[in-house]
Amino acid sequence: MDEKGAVRESCTNQRDALIAMSHRIHAHPELGFEEEQASTWLAESLADAGFAVERGVCGVPTAFVATKGRGPLHVGICAEYDCLPGIGHACGHNMIAAMSIGAAIAAARVADDAGLTITVLGTPAEEVGNDSGKIRLIEGGAFTGIHAAMMVHPAPFDFVAPKLIAASMFEVEYTGKEAHAAAFPELGINAADALTVAQTAVGLLRQHIEQTDRIHGIVTRGGDAPNVVPAHTCCKYIIRSNTIDDLTKLRRKVLRCFEAGAVATGSTMQVIGGDKPYADVRHDAAIAAVYRRNAEAAGRVFPDLGPQADRFAASTDMGNVSHVIPSIHPLIGINSLPAVNHQPEFTAHCATPDADKAVYDGALAMAWTAVDLARDAALTARLTGRASGR
Ligand SMILES: [Zn+2]
Ligand SMILES: [Zn+2]
Repeated sequence: MDEKGAVRESCTNQRDALIAMSHRIHAHPELGFEEEQASTWLAESLADAGFAVERGVCGVPTAFVATKGRGPLHVGICAEYDCLPGIGHACGHNMIAAMSIGAAIAAARVADDAGLTITVLGTPAEEVGNDSGKIRLIEGGAFTGIHAAMMVHPAPFDFVAPKLIAASMFEVEYTGKEAHAAAFPELGINAADALTVAQTAVGLLRQHIEQTDRIHGIVTRGGDAPNVVPAHTCCKYIIRSNTIDDLTKLRRKVLRCFEAGAVATGSTMQVIGGDKPYADVRHDAAIAAVYRRNAEAAGRVFPDLGPQADRFAASTDMGNVSHVIPSIHPLIGINSLPAVNHQPEFTAHCATPDADKAVYDGALAMAWTAVDLARDAALTARLTGRASGR
C-alpha cells in the first residue's frame, strides 16, 4: 500500500473514535482557557497513538504540543476546542479538535517514510479575541521549528481561502458617581449615559469607515438599579479591519467615540485589552492548492459562492500563525444553511451525520496534504528554507 492509501486506512480505522471525540467535546462545552476536559481527552488520544505529548505549554494550562515522526518537513496541525458563552459549540471547534488529531495520527503513521514530522498544537481560547492561545504559543516558542501549519474550520460550505481579517477585542469601563436618581440627580455622574454617547458616536462613525471594517459590541454591565445613578458600566467591543495596520487606524477612531462618552458625562474611562489583536490570515497559495486537490479527492465540493465570497469576513488567531509560518485555514461545509456559525442552530448541526462526515473528510484531506507537501521537493525546500538540490 502506498503512503496515501495507508493514510486513508488510518482515517477509516479511526473514524468511529474521531466521531466519538467530536461528540464528546460537543456534549461538554468549555470556554476559552477552561478547556480542561477537552485538552485532556485530546492529549491522551495522541499519547495512546505514540505521540510525545507535553501539556500546559507556554504557561497555558489547557494548551499542549504532541509530536511524532523524524522527517525533515515539520508540519503543525492546530486543534481548537473552546466553545462560546451560552450557545456551546456554535463554531464547531469540537470538530476541529477531532479532525486535527485524526489527521495527525494518520499522517504520523507514514511520517518517517514520507519525510514528515507531525506536531499537533492544542491551541485554547480562539474565541476570546485578544491574547488568545495561538498568540501565547507563538510568543512562547511552541511554533518554532515548524515549517507549515494548517487547520480546517467548520462552516456552512467548503471554502479553500476565506477572507479572514484582523480583529481586536477590548473592554471599556466607565466610572461615574452614584446618587439617588430622583432626590439628588444633580450629584450623580452617569456612567450609563457615557455608554449611550459612545454607542451613538460609534453608530455615526459607521459612515466614515472602510466598507470592509466591522464594529460590534455588547454591554456587560449597564447599572445595578434604576433608582441609583449608574456609577460603573462596562462593555466589550470587537473591531475588525483588513489588516493590522488598518485595524490600528480604526481603533483610534473607535476609541475617540468612547472618549466622547467620558467627556460628555464627566465619567472616567479605562480601556482593557485590545493589545494583542488577531492578524489577518495570509493563506499560502501553494499549500491551499494542495489542500483543495486532496479535499476534492476525498469527495468535497467547493461551491461557487459568487458575491458571498467577497462579503464573507471572519477572524482567527490562525492569522497570527500565518504571519510567522506558511499556513492554511480552509473551511469545511456541514450542510447547515440557513444555520450559520455562532447560532445555537449551528451548534446542533456540529454533531450531525454531515458534521461527522466533515470530521473524517477534513482529517483525510489534511493528512494527505501533509504527505503531498513532503513529496514535493521544491515546496519542501521552500518551506524548510533549504535548497531543493535541483
Ligand atoms: Zn467562532
Ligand atoms: Zn471558530
